[in-house]
Amino acid sequence: MSSFTTSERWRWEEGPQMQPLRTEISFEFTFQAAHTLPWHSGKCRNMHGHSYRCELFFAGQLTDEGIVVDFDAVDSFVAGELMPVLDHTYLNDSMPNPTAELIAARIFLIADAAGLPISGVRLWETATSSAIVRPTP
Ligand SMILES: [Zn+2]
Repeated sequence: MSSFTTSERWRWEEGPQMQPLRTEISFEFTFQAAHTLPWHSGKCRNMHGHSYRCELFFAGQLTDEGIVVDFDAVDSFVAGELMPVLDHTYLNDSMPNPTAELIAARIFLIADAAGLPISGVRLWETATSSAIVRPTP
């Protein structure tokens, strides 16, 4: 039984005990885009559109401010780097085979190249289907 009161325990947990914890944050955005999958034997070989939902995950050591990465920086990255190449586009213009898996991988690599501590991307193509990309361990 701890002799700490709740408020004392709260203060205690803000100290070096945070170090072994791995913190991950997420940021979600949506975009509309069209694509075709020419290899597909079903109706996905015809041009069609999706309302994609994307979750970006970031992980790493907390800064002195106690954050992984500033949500404002992520917001600016999405607005400045991703939305212009994704939203209301025909994805086949920039990718030969824009599957959810490959779009998620492309988003991961762009975020990594931008210097963000990206740890994963989940791209929802429909309300029930998503692709998840993470670095191999
Ligand atoms: Zn599709």
